[in-house]
Amino acid sequence: QDLSLPSGQEEKIQVFVRLRPLNDKEIARNDVSDWECINNNTIIFKNTLPERSMFPAAYSFDRVFGYDSPTKKLYEEGVKEVSLSVVSGINSSIFAYGQTSSGKTYTMRGITEYAVSDLYDYVEKHKEREFVLKFSAMEIYNESVRDLLISDTTPLRLLDDPERGTVVERLTEETLRDKSHMEELLAICEAQRQIGETSLNETSSRSHQILRLTIESSAREYIGADKSTTLTATVNFVDLAGSERASQAVSAGVRLKEGSHINRSLLTLGKVVRKLRRIVPSILFIAPELVNHNQIPGLIHDILSFLDAYSVLPLFLNKHIPMIGCSKGNNAHIPYRDSKLTRILQNSLGGNARTAIICTMSPARSQIEQSRNTLLFASCAK
Ligand code: ADP
Ligand code: MG
Repeated sequence: QDLSLPSGQEEKIQVFVRLRPLNDKEIARNDVSDWECINNNTIIFKNTLPERSMFPAAYSFDRVFGYDSPTKKLYEEGVKEVSLSVVSGINSSIFAYGQTSSGKTYTMRGITEYAVSDLYDYVEKHKEREFVLKFSAMEIYNESVRDLLISDTTPLRLLDDPERGTVVERLTEETLRDKSHMEELLAICEAQRQIGETSLNETSSRSHQILRLTIESSAREYIGADKSTTLTATVNFVDLAGSERASQAVSAGVRLKEGSHINRSLLTLGKVVRKLRRIVPSILFIAPELVNHNQIPGLIHDILSFLDAYSVLPLFLNKHIPMIGCSKGNNAHIPYRDSKLTRILQNSLGGNARTAIICTMSPARSQIEQSRNTLLFASCAK
């Protein structure tokens, strides 16, 4: 199977995996660490499990970062280029994807801070251009969008603007005075997000946070400079809802959990990314006699979680066990409009835009199902 993209497209979506250290809770219950980064690109399952697994034990990505890698390293070697493309007029999005408590917020906070600092350094060094930086922030909870810069929690509407695409109506946009102004605004967002969290159960695991920086630049009136070359671009820092919300949780038999559990924006983001990568899940069938009978329950379980991760319903034939793989296909229709998150990010996802997806995961044995789902998502996004 050839999963590669037409040349020139590959580098537009980059996928990174970050492993955090075992946390105190995991250590207290004698959880073991199962995953290890063996080089810059490969993460492996380092232990053996009794049951057979159809899952590979090694996964490769653009970069992987082990539990001892600081956020600074991930920023410098992974997402810096993507976040700075905004000064050249290229839109970009940086996502943190992973189950709750895998390190999304921890990672995004660090990255946002480093990126803002670098953007201001860039502005300082390029006096020949004049830069205007604008900041806005929003949260999507249950397909409802709210402004994180003001205390009003009234849902905001999305409008279609013929020139700018989808716009969030009445979203606050602050023109930044300097770096410390940005820090003040980030603190406001943080406080707004926490207020939401105490009034609504588990908000942060269910909601997406988008921090958005728009940069306009134009040549100053130096002799010979072309005044008409104004560049405008946006970079989005997106702290996604916990990826367990993308799960349609297939348990014994094929039973879908109630719809409220599923996060539409997260599911749609997965579909959009796979469509952009032209990945189509395909179902293969293998005869049960090819599989050692003792190993079947584990195998079925793995298949079901795999299908689950792709939101594909398995087809059971009496005599065959379905297996799923990815193949390359042509996907003309990209379902941006199916969720608020993908509508808001449409101009910064696909096309000319640059995207970095950081998949965060816990190394713990107890989290193996979620970690595998995260790696599957990452594998199909890369
Ligand atoms: P999430 O946003 O995915 O739910 P958090 O970012 O809140 O998870 O991380 C959960 C906890 O783990 C926090 O206390 C955080 O400080 C810690 N943590 C996450 N990633 C790392 C890391 N790479 N190194 C050290 N501590 C981390
Ligand atoms: Mg978080």
